Amino acid sequence: MLVSSARRRAGRRRHAHHLLAAGSAIIALTAVAGLGVSLSLAAPTGRDTARLLALGMVAGAVTLLAGMLMLPGAADTGATALQHLLDGLAIAGAIWFLGWVLVTAPTRVLGEITPVSCWLLLLPLGVAVLAFGLTTMVSVRMPRPRGGSVGVGAGITAASLAGAAVSGGVCQGWAGVVLSGALALPAGLTVIAVAARATDREPEPSEVDTTRRGAGFVFLPMVLLTGAAGYQVIRTGAVGTAGALAGCLVLVALVGRQYLALRDVRRGAQRLREREAHFRGLAHTDPLTGLANRRGMLRVLHQEAFSGVPCVLLGIDMDGFKSVNDLRGHDVGDQVLLEVGGRLRMNLRPGDAVARLGGDEFAVLMWATEDEAERAAHRLLDALAAPYEQGGGVVFLSASIGLAAAESADGGVETLMRNADLALRYAKVNGKSRVERYEPEYDSLLRRRTTLEHELRGAIERDELRLVFQPVVALPSVRPVGAEALLRWTHPQLGAVGPDEFIPAAEESGLIAALGRWVLDRACRQLARWLDEGYDVWVAVNVSPRELRSPDYVGQVAEVLRTHGVPPQRLVLEVTEHAVATDPDELRRRLRELRDTGVRIALDDFGAGYSSLGQLRELPVDILKIDRKLVAASEPLVDVVVRLGHRLGLEVLAEGISTPAHRAVVEESGCRFGQGFLFGGGVPAEHVEAQLRAAASPRRVPASASTGRLAISAGQLAPAVIPAQDGEGASG
Ligand code: C2E
Ligand code: CA
Ligand code: CA
Repeated sequence: MLVSSARRRAGRRRHAHHLLAAGSAIIALTAVAGLGVSLSLAAPTGRDTARLLALGMVAGAVTLLAGMLMLPGAADTGATALQHLLDGLAIAGAIWFLGWVLVTAPTRVLGEITPVSCWLLLLPLGVAVLAFGLTTMVSVRMPRPRGGSVGVGAGITAASLAGAAVSGGVCQGWAGVVLSGALALPAGLTVIAVAARATDREPEPSEVDTTRRGAGFVFLPMVLLTGAAGYQVIRTGAVGTAGALAGCLVLVALVGRQYLALRDVRRGAQRLREREAHFRGLAHTDPLTGLANRRGMLRVLHQEAFSGVPCVLLGIDMDGFKSVNDLRGHDVGDQVLLEVGGRLRMNLRPGDAVARLGGDEFAVLMWATEDEAERAAHRLLDALAAPYEQGGGVVFLSASIGLAAAESADGGVETLMRNADLALRYAKVNGKSRVERYEPEYDSLLRRRTTLEHELRGAIERDELRLVFQPVVALPSVRPVGAEALLRWTHPQLGAVGPDEFIPAAEESGLIAALGRWVLDRACRQLARWLDEGYDVWVAVNVSPRELRSPDYVGQVAEVLRTHGVPPQRLVLEVTEHAVATDPDELRRRLRELRDTGVRIALDDFGAGYSSLGQLRELPVDILKIDRKLVAASEPLVDVVVRLGHRLGLEVLAEGISTPAHRAVVEESGCRFGQGFLFGGGVPAEHVEAQLRAAASPRRVPASASTGRLAISAGQLAPAVIPAQDGEGASG
């Protein structure tokens, strides 16, 4: 039975069943051999047969016990098996000694039938009590289900007892004992074979609990041992050799098992400590980047920031990170954040603390003076601005950084965090991709910003917005050919707020979409009116990158053009160079779509230092607007840009022409269009109309010219210097 059940199992279980089968076979064969020897005529003495039987029984029983310990759940490691064995030995030693005391003089419970000079009997009896002890341990310690293993143990105990009875009976010549042993033997083996089939269910790992291997049971053998020894001492005045041996055995077994148990407990405690440290670490760690999290940073700040050594807290935020998540998906976003964390770590000195506070927000605690920290912050800015190659594409990102020194924060950690955050917000509203140090007045500046955002929300409904138009003139004739629409906001309390201030606020709060729609609509309405009246003009509208990114922007433009019946090529959309620098691929796609509708694209503020000349070739633009800084500063550069633009087939327009000297430089470079206070600032539409009329008189512009692109009608008109009418500091 056991061999066939071993065949159906694998691994350790198969091994256990094989051992059980082998042990059973040894016992059975021993019994049969003993019987054969006894029956044979040339029988040796009873003693020899008994010796043979005893050795066979012991070998079989030990094999069976080894098999039992290999059953699933009985002893998962060698150390556990050893511990069970030692515990079993302690119990066995005590019971055995109790038996010894009872059987030997002076008690001699067996009286006349006490076996004599049959030392071999001790071995199978010893193994039998060991089997009992081990079975007890397994049934106490093993996690449920343990019925099968306990059954196997009981079978082994019974079989080894029966074996002891057979060999002892033969030795003593007790036929009755031999017979009962011979009957009990197959019964015990059958129990083993049957019970072994129910040992397969592996206990749940969580149920295996070393703390359950208590030492309470050790009192039982100790009490037995002490009782028996005491009894013997009282009766005979001495413990005797057997008592001393048994005592030593039990003691060694108990000390050994206690040692093992202690080792287990120590290991368990160590594991517990490690796990606790792990979880404590997790609570202060950001799982994505492995950096500290907000709590980790707070802990460092509380422990170290105010120790007297100068240190600076940097708040870092990735600009426009949301669009990475929106456009490329969160997986790419996560990869980028991971990379950001890595770059921060790489670019800091050992000892500086880095944390991810949440989302795309990071913080660094730097052991440095404010000046050193500012230099380091600029280095970080550069490191973070390098392209991120992720998810089969390249992501361009910039970062904004706010600094606050610990010594500037007398209110402690909270104030320090707030100051760094204020500086960071200031860096954001001040154009992003920059470093700002905390200044006390940021508070009021940011408060004004919040007020602006709040008030801007109702500006359209309250009719506080209007458009002004700045004329664009052809050079050198100075004939007005177009106008750029510029937004103006006059608030009843705040007064006139400049677009440089409220446009960034609108971009950040998302209001820019509504504002942009309003501007586009008004500008096209005005353009339609001028075209109706026969003027050959175009109108330029500024578009912020945020509007461009909206998926329905192209449809919106087409719709507005249709509503006002404006030919698309009469509308110019101005995109700043800065927008191009942040996400070129996406922007290129959008611009191409826009251009397909027929509108023209101008690259605004060209030369302000964001994009490279190399990118220009790939951008779908029609007009290059040279930044006014370039015009004001350097003659050769204007010349270079104009020529480059013309070579790429673009129209070039110079902005910010406010003095005749500027004009001379621009004209000399061959630039054909100009804009600036010299020709007029942003003025109400009627004023531009007056200029158009003045330029067109005495002859009206022929109607055919109204469909032209930027081309200027052949009959160029006399140059007319247009006076500025908006008080924007124009010099006429
Ligand atoms: P921009 O697109 O570069 O517009 C030109 C700005 O330069 C205007 O300032 C204009 O008044 C000013 N300017 C014109 N000629 C001269 C000159 O000769 N010298 C100097 N120093 N400045 C000159 P403004 O109107 O304050 O607009 C500032 C910026 O606000 C604009 O820069 C544009 O980026 C943005 N903006 C204005 N209106 C809108 C709008 O409707 N939508 C969006 N998205 N942005 C707008
Ligand atoms: Ca512009
Ligand atoms: Ca500009």
